[in-house]
Amino acid sequence: MTPAQRKFLRDLIHAAFERAHSQGFESPIDLAPFGKLLRELEPGFTHQAYGHEKLLYLLRGEFPELLHIRKDQEVDPPRYYVSIRRGPPRPAHRQQPFRPESARMPPVLDPGLVDGGLLERYLASLAESSARTQQRFGAIDRRLAGIQDELAQSRANEIKMNTEIRELDARLMKYRTGASCKHCGSRNVMISSSTLKPHFCRNCGKYL
Ligand SMILES: [Zn+2]
Repeated sequence: MTPAQRKFLRDLIHAAFERAHSQGFESPIDLAPFGKLLRELEPGFTHQAYGHEKLLYLLRGEFPELLHIRKDQEVDPPRYYVSIRRGPPRPAHRQQPFRPESARMPPVLDPGLVDGGLLERYLASLAESSARTQQRFGAIDRRLAGIQDELAQSRANEIKMNTEIRELDARLMKYRTGASCKHCGSRNVMISSSTLKPHFCRNCGKYL
């Protein structure tokens, strides 16, 4: 068989599998209908023209790397089923010169190289993610403002409490001294913070 004949038959076999697939045949295909498909595609096709007594011998003998043929011995005479081998990619693919991964990848955001829909979806998802980030920052800002309000409130409370404590202290000191005005006997006297001794009567206004 010449290389040209071999190539022709390979193409014919591939075409027959494509037609079989489009007609709903499942792989593997019974050899009898497969032969019919070959003749439909190439009306002059005969296995005898390639020097083989049977189609089985032609396919099994000449294309062992391309075709897998299974024999069903449960029936008499035995039937044969043919399918395309799933092997390594064809040499044409394998012989591509090696290039590092980085050289093969187009720049992701070059609009000339990226499918328009993809770029739009990417930008939309970027905008969405940005909006989500903004929302989170907004929520954090609001919490911070709330915390600042609480802090200001507690400082005000602290000042108020300190004032109250000072007033209570003052009243306590007044009672602690047990002082009374020696002029009028009133206990409503002003207390000197330095000596804790009464020095001014609020009732009669005299110094003590
Ligand atoms: Zn007095």
